[in-house]
Amino acid sequence: MLKPNMHYAELRDSYLFARIGAKIKDYQKEHPEARLYRLGIGDVTRPLCPAVIAALHEAVDDQGSFDRFHGYMPECGAPFLREAIASHYAARGVALSADEVFVSGGASDELGDITDLFAHPCRALMTDPTYPAYMDASVMAGREVTRLPAGEENGFLPLPDESAEADLIYLCSPNNPTGAVYDRERLKIWVDYANRRGAVILFDAAYEAFIEDSTLPHSIFEIEGARSCAIEICSLSKTAGFTGTRLGYTVIPRELVRDGMCLRDMWVRNRTTKTNGISYILQKGGAAVFTEEGQRQIFDNIRVYRENARVLTETFDRLGAWYIGGKNAPYVWVKCPAGMDSWSFFDLLLREIGVIGTPGEGFGASGEGYFRFSTFGSPEDTREAASRLERLLKQYY
Ligand code: PLP
Repeated sequence: MLKPNMHYAELRDSYLFARIGAKIKDYQKEHPEARLYRLGIGDVTRPLCPAVIAALHEAVDDQGSFDRFHGYMPECGAPFLREAIASHYAARGVALSADEVFVSGGASDELGDITDLFAHPCRALMTDPTYPAYMDASVMAGREVTRLPAGEENGFLPLPDESAEADLIYLCSPNNPTGAVYDRERLKIWVDYANRRGAVILFDAAYEAFIEDSTLPHSIFEIEGARSCAIEICSLSKTAGFTGTRLGYTVIPRELVRDGMCLRDMWVRNRTTKTNGISYILQKGGAAVFTEEGQRQIFDNIRVYRENARVLTETFDRLGAWYIGGKNAPYVWVKCPAGMDSWSFFDLLLREIGVIGTPGEGFGASGEGYFRFSTFGSPEDTREAASRLERLLKQYY
């Protein structure tokens, strides 16, 4: 009999959002009239920008025309988009060749698929708290997982521990859930560590567009030595509102070689075998993001989320709460008041003021005692939620 991959039986239930959903459902049953303010969402609320919409429409028309119709697209991405992305990096001082850029259907697909490149029994290292998909993908592949605790003592930006035997290192900066961002010096420590050990860093840059501080790196390839130890996974989801449209990209430099195998070349082989490329229409929409007009318009949207972040962080400043994020990141990571655990804090906010956030414990044991607020809601809801938080929490902080 065919044996299934029994590692799936080792997966922890993805209980976080299920448990939140169940709590909200119970509350709404008891209080059908209550208005809820959702600051738990990781999804965007603003629509695609006009430049992207125009490019999508035009591409749809192309597909209806004998002259402009496109059949199968190149598996690794359309040259026009790969070149636009490489130019975007060049503008930041990062030299990439367009054929080191791979167009993807989003960061989630890629974070799961790319680990095909590595031997299954290898040791994965990730922070705690962490984005849950890293953990689940590693467990499915039967990888040994080490968690590096993050906390206030290291600004939720842990550095490598020489005792940890890591082969595959997941780093996310700006971080989900904490909003913490690695600076160049700290990222250099990771790059040197990975090069010394022959490890590979999977650098999740899904939130790079939220970085405002010009001294912080948007890409790991801004760090010397990263071309021989890192893969960067990016997404247009939060950058340009593509969560439902689906588009991302991955950068694998030619110098990334392990045991004589060039990982970029292996990924070309993987994509040409396992995919038939991303739709022409989506790639045209994606290319519009990298035009001058597209960049101006996506930042009009990002500015709205940044303003939400400002409203929330000023509220926590007035309350005297400990928090990080909110600047350079779309999440605010707040310490729960009075030693409260994160699920009790969730219950308090839901019951007393109808505000929903995400308990830190759901991202790992080191997230206990902290709470994630998202800035992707509407400005009206965010302002109302902030004033409710301030009124309620005055007595707790
Ligand atoms: N990586 C991180 C850290 C995320 O928070 C998310 C989505 O919330 C993703 C990846 C997935 O992005 P995508 O929509 O491109 O699959």
